[in-house]
Amino acid sequence: MIRKLYPYGKKKAFNVTYDDGVLQDIRFVELLNQYQLKGTFNLNSLLMETEFEWTHESGCVVKRLKIDDIQSLYTGHEIASHTLTHPYMDSLTKEEILYELSKDKANLERIFGKEVKGFAVPFDYYSELIEKCVKECGFEYARISEESYSFSPENDFYKWRATIFHCDGKLEDLVQQFVETDEELAMFQIVGHTYDLDIENKWNIIENVFEVISEQNDMLPMTTIEIIAYLKAMNKVEITNEYIQNNSEKSLWFSIDNVICEVKANEKYIL
Ligand SMILES: [Zn+2]
Repeated sequence: MIRKLYPYGKKKAFNVTYDDGVLQDIRFVELLNQYQLKGTFNLNSLLMETEFEWTHESGCVVKRLKIDDIQSLYTGHEIASHTLTHPYMDSLTKEEILYELSKDKANLERIFGKEVKGFAVPFDYYSELIEKCVKECGFEYARISEESYSFSPENDFYKWRATIFHCDGKLEDLVQQFVETDEELAMFQIVGHTYDLDIENKWNIIENVFEVISEQNDMLPMTTIEIIAYLKAMNKVEITNEYIQNNSEKSLWFSIDNVICEVKANEKYIL
């Protein structure tokens, strides 16, 4: 029996995706690093230059990180775009949307010296036009503001949903189900803003989750783009009764009759 696995023969993938680039990210990244987990951070480059704080509806003052603070903070994690200025995009023209996306991408690439391939939608408005612009700007995925409550990775990378919002009361139960699931290529992705953890006093819950996840030997911490790039490569595989043909530029992993096996880029594995 052949079962698809994540890199290094791991059965499951885990990721967190956090928006807005705020002060609480410092404490959050420390936690991620402590548990050797990986995050995706979705940033608004212009607001990090110009607008350092705003008042959340709870009354809490939220401070954005400044560009000088972030260069080393996110080392080892993914940086993705969240638009230049965090607009509600329903009223924007195509040109304005393209500008918000492409300028943020270019700024982040300049700041971090690395290609930015991911995009997370600001607020909750998404449309065919925005999706078209996301593709035109060269992003490989768009995370929308909706959760899946599922362990199956999305088929449509331009309507990518995280599994659950971090302050959702079902978080710990769903993590437990994830630990127990035997679903093929199961993944779990938590979405949020780190300031929510202050406002809702939930740092202990997120740390408990990180602890549980880090104890699982069959789970691989991955960034969103690492998961998506791997799934794209896996989508090209050809599996017959006689062989597994890897048609991608990445190594792919399988369990073949319970033996973990790596099929290297563009190689054919004879069964
Ligand atoms: Zn946001």
